[in-house]
Amino acid sequence: MSMAKVCYNDCTVDNLSLLRYNWTSSQRISKKILYMNLKGLQIVLAGQPKFRFKQAWKAVFVDLISDWNDNTTLPKDLREVLNSECSLDVEAEIFGSEKSESVKALLTLEDDQKIETVLLRHKDGRNTICLSSQVGCALGCAFCATGKMGFKRDLTVSEIILQVLLFARYLKENKSEKNITNVVFMGMGEPFLNFDNVMESIKILNDKEAFNIGARHISVSTAGIVEEINKFANEKMQINLAISLHASNDKLRAELMPVARKYSLNQLFEAIENYVEKRSRQVMFEYLLIDGVNDSEYHAKELAGLMKHPLYVVNLIRYNPTGGRFRPSTATSIRKFKNILLREGIKVTERHEFGQDIKAACGQLAGRKK
Ligand code: SAH
Ligand code: SF4
Repeated sequence: MSMAKVCYNDCTVDNLSLLRYNWTSSQRISKKILYMNLKGLQIVLAGQPKFRFKQAWKAVFVDLISDWNDNTTLPKDLREVLNSECSLDVEAEIFGSEKSESVKALLTLEDDQKIETVLLRHKDGRNTICLSSQVGCALGCAFCATGKMGFKRDLTVSEIILQVLLFARYLKENKSEKNITNVVFMGMGEPFLNFDNVMESIKILNDKEAFNIGARHISVSTAGIVEEINKFANEKMQINLAISLHASNDKLRAELMPVARKYSLNQLFEAIENYVEKRSRQVMFEYLLIDGVNDSEYHAKELAGLMKHPLYVVNLIRYNPTGGRFRPSTATSIRKFKNILLREGIKVTERHEFGQDIKAACGQLAGRKK
């Protein structure tokens, strides 16, 4: 595993963080981490003609500049003000190398909190970014490293966008053929408990003048917050929905995921059906396979019973150990489990294991003891 520390200058939409990108060998460059505040950007550019904002926006999101001085369309004196008022420092440690299929960034935020973002490079050339939506998570799922940290705070729109920008620059720097093609909210935190900021950030991801990532290439994963699933069903954009199911009955689910004590499977599926009815879009059900816990033949059949809808797809995920009491299912039980679902006519995919070497299960780096 190679490890490099990276410093980004960053500027903040209430904090659109972005910009300068300095590789350093080991030490942190600066504690003065700055969030590019898009509002800050608006303030700096307030007295300027409107097109200046467009130019700055393009410089940040399309040209992926790492310093305001790298942009020649903005007047020099304005660039100086931007550099001082909308400083661009971001601090991130990168784990993995240009060659590895997954690269993880551990970002330090303005208030010293840490979050993780993962870049997954697929063989077909797609580049998926796995984004965090909160620092920690209040939902405390028994198997999840982020859950163990507890909830610290929501991320701002800027902090969400910053994660994408960081890897967009990284890919450009590494001369990747494609930039970011897909985004999944499957990092730290529960996106539906930070609903407004997540939706706002998706607009920027989707913006043709910014990242231009199609809504169909963006997925939000939730542990199952029923009210927000209903809200999500009314969103105009065609964003994908993923549900962390992980258990085929209420009792087991409540043991693994405390949120299931609030919402029964009946309530959850009612909300999902409402979503499917309104959007006619596929729903992905994530199912972690944990040895001896939820991976028996009985569970597979029970799960099949829940999945009898042509738009439901199960994504089987081998549990990534986080140092607790759980172990991943064996290859044999995964195969058996999958075959039962297939025989029942259920659509099944299997998530290829990415980057155990970089502790790809989110929360494992940010939650580690110093
Ligand atoms: N809070 C949201 C999104 C973040 S978690 C949710 O729970 O859906 C993203 C996915 O990673 C979830 O499906 C979660 O259950 C899964 N996950 C958590 N810990 C994991 C682990 N140790 N190994 C593999 N997947 C894990
Ligand atoms: Fe939170 Fe998702 Fe982890 Fe559960 S799995 S604790 S909801 S981040």
